[in-house]
Amino acid sequence: MKRNKIIDILSAETTGSRITVMGWVRTRRESKGGFSFIEMNDGSCLSNLQVIVDDKLENYETEVRNLQTGCSIRVIGTLVASPAKGQSIELQAEEIEVYGWADPDTYPLQKKRHSFEFLRTIAHLRPRTNTFGAVARVRNAMAFAIHTFFQKRGFIYVHTPIITGSDCEGAGEMFRVTAFDLENVPKKNGETDFEKDFFNQPAGLTVSGQLEAEIYALSMGDVYTFGPTFRAENSNTSRHLAEFWMVEPEMAFCDLEGNIDLAEAFLKYLFDDLLKNCEEDLAFFNRFIDSSLLETLKTLISEKYERLDYTEAIKILSKSKQKFEFPVHWGCDLQSEHERYLTEKVFNKPVVLTDYPREIKPFYMKVNEDGKTVRAMDLLVPKIGEIIGGSQREDDHDMLLERLKETNLPPEDYWWYLELRKFGSAPHAGFGLGFERLIQFVTGLSNIRDVMPFPRTPGNVSF
Ligand code: ATP
Ligand code: MN
Repeated sequence: MKRNKIIDILSAETTGSRITVMGWVRTRRESKGGFSFIEMNDGSCLSNLQVIVDDKLENYETEVRNLQTGCSIRVIGTLVASPAKGQSIELQAEEIEVYGWADPDTYPLQKKRHSFEFLRTIAHLRPRTNTFGAVARVRNAMAFAIHTFFQKRGFIYVHTPIITGSDCEGAGEMFRVTAFDLENVPKKNGETDFEKDFFNQPAGLTVSGQLEAEIYALSMGDVYTFGPTFRAENSNTSRHLAEFWMVEPEMAFCDLEGNIDLAEAFLKYLFDDLLKNCEEDLAFFNRFIDSSLLETLKTLISEKYERLDYTEAIKILSKSKQKFEFPVHWGCDLQSEHERYLTEKVFNKPVVLTDYPREIKPFYMKVNEDGKTVRAMDLLVPKIGEIIGGSQREDDHDMLLERLKETNLPPEDYWWYLELRKFGSAPHAGFGLGFERLIQFVTGLSNIRDVMPFPRTPGNVSF
């Protein structure tokens, strides 16, 4: 089936061309002069193509007049200049074939605007709306730009495992993977006998590809992973999913500063790419979701992000007159209310916080000379808070061992991670960007469930 896509027609085709379009009817209305106007959309872009159907068409009475929102059709016709406002061309139909009907009494996506909550319950149909179509195209553009950014800089794309035997940091957060018959789990001395399970040991879904990415960084130099990540955290927030995609660059011969430089250049590249390649979808989000979006993205490309250490941030937060739900003191973990206060109220731009207390950060972050803080970096943006978390990694064998013990992790499970610090260890650093948080940020959508095609959250897996 040869078809012309609406995006190509609107950008390149001229009047007089004979074309074939296939898509879904958004609206149809009848005009007095004996014809119908059909607005059709094929997903290739936000814009619809307007089709004019003359009542002389052979199936006009039998089919065209019954076309309703949601029907799928093929139209063959000739492009003509459009007298209507806001479009330069329209399609004069010569032949219309109906592929699939949509009963208006039961098809849920009628003209009126639906709430995002309702649309979440019809994930099989919501990509046919303007908002979710635009989200899908923005996700696609951002994924492509992420690969391009790293490929241009010579980073190697590494495929880290989805099923893992190492529970790196998130003890309670890991989903279990098993082939056991759950009605009949083998026991040994009253406990689950994992030796009889598929992998002969406990296994789970990865919470991060970082540790494996480090292996490849320490042989290939600059690498990145970009894959699905799973966390069984029971946090029903607007910025957490149980399944999300994470981008994780990891660089050998790189320190904390180089890491922050990369994160900043990375975000700027992505914003710039989006403004160039998703103009129409961004304009839509700017109009209907967040009227400061375009302005914000433009300024974030040019201005330098604030860099500040945790200790300074605590001073600023303690002195502020803002009432926080969670009180602030040196040593506390920052909540999103604190993060947002810093990036929205104090600096009004992205802020990179560094050098957090070692007690609140994972074992793999490099301990500073002061012995009290680690070379961590969190990149915070307005409205979301943390979008990137990273660090320079501990490259000293003995210190790493001490940190494992201090955080009650069995060193024998990390024997290979420790060995990397014995054989050709090198300074290295990396970070993780939550892909869906990025999409939230660039679309202005406030709930992470609306930027993921099929969001998985506590209690929700069927869609
Ligand atoms: P938070 O404190 O917001 O839960 P985190 O400290 O657990 O984040 P990291 O483990 O550093 O996050 O993960 C790196 C990045 O992955 C985060 O900066 C964030 O963008 C994203 N991320 C983390 N958890 C989730 C989640 N449950 N859903 C979506 N994105 C997430
Ligand atoms: Mn978390």
